[in-house]
Amino acid sequence: MTDCLFCKIVSGEVPAKVVRESARTVAFRDINPQAPTHVLVIPREHHSTVAELAAADADVLAEVLREAHQVAVDEGIAESGYRVVFNTGPQAGQTVFHVHAHVLGGRGLNWPPG
Ligand code: AMP
Ligand code: ZN
Repeated sequence: MTDCLFCKIVSGEVPAKVVRESARTVAFRDINPQAPTHVLVIPREHHSTVAELAAADADVLAEVLREAHQVAVDEGIAESGYRVVFNTGPQAGQTVFHVHAHVLGGRGLNWPPG
């Protein structure tokens, strides 16, 4: 998709602090981190929401989740605990409509979230 920020990160047109890459995913640091670890994991292919990705290609969704866990391992937060969040739709705070898993950790995380 030509006008999608995260497609531009995948293509390299927009720079990002990439921490992991797999065949079908890219993981990079959030530009406005909300926790000591705040990494976004995205599929290389454009899908708007996690629901669309689940319907279109469940294997890629599984790869996104495996990579999210591997980010937590790499960041040293797999044991202490971390959260994986897919904001879906405007009322949940989704602002970029290229599906992304937020991987958050490195501090105590409130539950329920705001
Ligand atoms: P959401 O609000 O769930 O759609 O999440 C979008 C996330 O993308 C936010 O946490 C932003 O801080 C992050 N973000 C926006 N632009 C960039 C960028 N150029 N590089 C890295 N993260 C970004
Ligand atoms: Zn996109």
